[in-house]
Amino acid sequence: MLSDELRARAAKQVKSFTEAFLTAKQNGYNVQALSLPSFDNQEDFDRCRPEESGTDFREHNEYVTMILEGLVENGVPAERVLFHYSEFAKWLNGGEISNATRASYGAYLLSEAERKSHEREAVGTSPEQERLLEVQVDCSKRTFEHLRCPCGNWSTLSFDSIEYIAETVQVSGSMPTLTCGRCGRRRVPIATHEAICGLATEALNRGVSRVSVNVLAANGARTRYSYCEKAPLKYSALDTQYIPGLDGQSGFLTPVFFARDALTYFYHHPSYTVKFASDTYGSLWTLDGDYISFGLNRQGKVIMWLGDLDRFPETELKMLAIHNVESDHDIGCEFYEGQIEAVFTELSQEQRVIRAQGELSVEVFSKFNGLKLLQMDAEAAQLVSDLRRPLHFTETQFGDAMETMTKLLIERIDVAAVKKDLAPTLESRDAERLRSLGGLKALELWLLKKAGSENAKELMSPLFVLYDLRVAFKHLIPADKQEATKQSAIERLGLAPDTTLETIYDTVSEKLQLAFEQMKIAVRKQGE
Ligand SMILES: [Zn+2]
Repeated sequence: MLSDELRARAAKQVKSFTEAFLTAKQNGYNVQALSLPSFDNQEDFDRCRPEESGTDFREHNEYVTMILEGLVENGVPAERVLFHYSEFAKWLNGGEISNATRASYGAYLLSEAERKSHEREAVGTSPEQERLLEVQVDCSKRTFEHLRCPCGNWSTLSFDSIEYIAETVQVSGSMPTLTCGRCGRRRVPIATHEAICGLATEALNRGVSRVSVNVLAANGARTRYSYCEKAPLKYSALDTQYIPGLDGQSGFLTPVFFARDALTYFYHHPSYTVKFASDTYGSLWTLDGDYISFGLNRQGKVIMWLGDLDRFPETELKMLAIHNVESDHDIGCEFYEGQIEAVFTELSQEQRVIRAQGELSVEVFSKFNGLKLLQMDAEAAQLVSDLRRPLHFTETQFGDAMETMTKLLIERIDVAAVKKDLAPTLESRDAERLRSLGGLKALELWLLKKAGSENAKELMSPLFVLYDLRVAFKHLIPADKQEATKQSAIERLGLAPDTTLETIYDTVSEKLQLAFEQMKIAVRKQGE
């Protein structure tokens, strides 16, 4: 029997997955099943979920069953997948265990199960081995496809010269295939498969036994869709036609590539704010609360959908066009995963805090005429990916985590912008005092005066505690003061003096999340 706490957590999980599923579906995305990991022995559980190591794996399975039942009841497609550490480790190939990699591996297990049920011959040799590859195509088989290679890595669309044998007809030339840079596997996308079979049938009808093609030079490659016609954007219609999950008909989901600098324009633009959901997935928000998502691919390029870009005013679109680059046909990243494969990731506590702060900043931005609470730059994306729960709760690792959290949650507060917004509402004596205030005190005063939070001091408390934990554990204050500062922080968290670092970490991060959520509610009420 599950504890009340776990049951409540499961219910919350069902609610958030259902909402995410419905939103994705509403937006027209190709939503696939959610994978729920379960285990058949304690060792696999402990090794796959090191942060919960020691929890009874049967209890976890029961928790997963409860989520599964809730989702099925809500009509959300979900399936149980069995995790074995040895196979997971192989798939990770040296990568780290995290919520994101676990979710990806779960999605991979589901796609594997699907692939096995639609077995298809589509495996070529390594792209480096020969220039011309020979692949047998069976024109009677159809199947679903994923951008992820069966080895777990993202595939890239390539246009190498290939030779296919289909229905005794030899089809050769430059054609789209999905290649994996990690294991060298080459797969034939459904659209290529269909094109080849069409060519083979036509050749047979005409009594021809050899056909040569060059997809890059064909008309299809030059297709222009009816979006963003006012700006001369470069994109490849072949991406839309051949990358799994994109829609080749309307062209809405055509990936358009930009140099990373494109984001800088929005960091500084008064009508936009940038929010990162992970290090490869973010969104640009406008003052009206509208947003456009973007991804960062493995080459560090920014990707946006052509159909989304169409919503930008002409000026912004032309500004973006300056940073527009040719497609490198590589779109595998969390942006693609979240939007096309709709892989749901169970958020870690760290991500929850970041999300809560991001939502507060978007709320402030839209309710207070474009006030940007946070400085958002390329470094912030790096910090988001650096923030991790310590593996071992040593003083050093704990101190490092407090430091990253401080950089993300406190040092990014745009003190000058907050003060500038606040100053006109203050009496002259308070305005004088404002000048000498640090970021946290200025934000506290802003919450009190502008957002009308009577309990501003209480709301800010977890941030002050975080600040103190950082200076104490990173030895930024004299040694004789460190112990007293630690004790004071622990006391303000409502914990006993001998509390473990792990409990302190959990408590402070939960309180931070809650504080940002309450600040957001206060800001929203004020704006109404
Ligand atoms: Zn591979």
